[in-house]
Amino acid sequence: MPIERETIPFDVLFVGGGPANLAGAIRLMQLAREKNLELEVALIEKGSEIGSHAVSGAILNPRALVELIPDFLEKGCPIENRVRADAFYYLTRDKAFPVPVVPCYMHNHGFYVVSQSRLTRWLAGIAEEMGVNIFSGFAGKEPLFSTDGTGILGVRIGDKGIGKDGTHRSNFEPGVDLTASVTVFGEGARGSLFQEIAKKLGIDSLKMPQVYETGIKEVIQLPDDHYFTRSQANDIHFMGYPLGLYTPGGGFIYEMADNRISLGFLTGLSYDDPFLDPYDMLLEFKQHPFVMDIIRDGKVIEQGARTVSNGGFFTIPRLSVDGAVFVGGSAAMQNVPGLKGIHTAMKSGMLAAEAIIHAIESNDFSQHALDRYTELFDQSWLRAEIFEGRNFAAALAKKGPAKYIHLAAQYVTAGKGIRDVMPLEADYLTLKAKDARDKSGTSDKSAVDGVLLVDKLTGVYLSRTLHREDQPSHLLVHDLNICVNQCYETYQNPCTRFCPAQVYEFHIDETTSRRELRLNPSNCLHCKTCDIKDPYRNITWTCPEGGDGPGYKLV
Ligand code: SF4
Repeated sequence: MPIERETIPFDVLFVGGGPANLAGAIRLMQLAREKNLELEVALIEKGSEIGSHAVSGAILNPRALVELIPDFLEKGCPIENRVRADAFYYLTRDKAFPVPVVPCYMHNHGFYVVSQSRLTRWLAGIAEEMGVNIFSGFAGKEPLFSTDGTGILGVRIGDKGIGKDGTHRSNFEPGVDLTASVTVFGEGARGSLFQEIAKKLGIDSLKMPQVYETGIKEVIQLPDDHYFTRSQANDIHFMGYPLGLYTPGGGFIYEMADNRISLGFLTGLSYDDPFLDPYDMLLEFKQHPFVMDIIRDGKVIEQGARTVSNGGFFTIPRLSVDGAVFVGGSAAMQNVPGLKGIHTAMKSGMLAAEAIIHAIESNDFSQHALDRYTELFDQSWLRAEIFEGRNFAAALAKKGPAKYIHLAAQYVTAGKGIRDVMPLEADYLTLKAKDARDKSGTSDKSAVDGVLLVDKLTGVYLSRTLHREDQPSHLLVHDLNICVNQCYETYQNPCTRFCPAQVYEFHIDETTSRRELRLNPSNCLHCKTCDIKDPYRNITWTCPEGGDGPGYKLV
């Protein structure tokens, strides 16, 4: 029997509670007030509350925030710290060499260290005060396409109360259909709804595939007398060890308030070694003598993981279709060389809001009308900033010293470099079975102490991740035969390593030699690495029940 669903109409629906959509919703309400427009605006967030799925570095360049809320400090914006000075080190296995000139795009002096989780909660409070209806714990399960299939009408919320076997439990609640004149998709990198729309409407950039880095981040509580009480630089970036010259990525440490630090390590998913484990990279980074000096006697109090869309300008998709626009990480709005995405995401949401108000005033929600967002983007500082780093990801993906030649050439030519448009390869294509340099086990697991160096499962615990156990797996493995045959034989199941939450486990029965891939979906941190890196595109990440997932408070 078909399920009866309620339909709730809005003027504008924001899907995702990150900085892009929150800034967009606030800007929309500001413009509506200026123009005396009465609007019904809703914002849905899959996490149990705004901020519970928000994870980022996070250094905030305040440029977009100043435009949006000029008195943000007076209004109580939760700032952890202000950057006093930047430092940049190249790490070898035992030594740290200061890079004499910190590249200009990494100058963060005067910017703010924030917790993205806290920042988004604060922005949500402002949006709510301005009249935005915020629904947390509402997971957008599928886009609603127009009958001719060329546009978007809204989003269907996922059903609640479905058992593992697919049957409806006594507490079954059908998801409602939220419709809107314009739906704004701001799901962050690798949004599941965005993926579906891109597949159906062909909106991906035709120039380059998107590429990603997986970041694993911790908040560490330090003793009162710590490194930053003696160091002027409180924003430190690292490259080199443990990834070396072959894989993009690196580490960061930022000083937060109350003797806490934000520490993270990003691994470019263009890596070719199927044995590489991004979580091991984090552990090795933390055990480097220079880093250990900074974090000694600390205690990890929160951990999280997320992918970042790092392809840059040439990977920006079409920004609007009939009835919808795309903002933030889903739309590759990231300053890649500057390692910052909060201000770029916010600005994209604000530009989208301006285009939406124009569409409302002219009562035209077609792609043609919403293309005003692209025009505004093209005239903005946001475009100029992203354009300057247009070839950065491709240069980083180069192997060995060629990487530095390309980076230097781009540095002195405002991003043009030796070759302007440098090609990128999709991350799922880059694993090389034959060249595998087995790195599994290179990190010293005996050093894991459950306090300063924690294993994956302790990290899951520290992320406060919860999923209702009795629900169908939100991780769809399309063909288990591929896992136990081709993937095992060619790559030895890299999902068991690249997942930072130990969701995938491979078992071989000693008696029968039967191979089996087992899943623990309730550990999932929603980082999307598996959806991106699986070499057979055999895994699809979908939204679990609304309210499930991490419970970040500080990262
Ligand atoms: Fe990330 Fe996939 Fe593991 Fe979930 S299952 S934590 S999305 S890699």
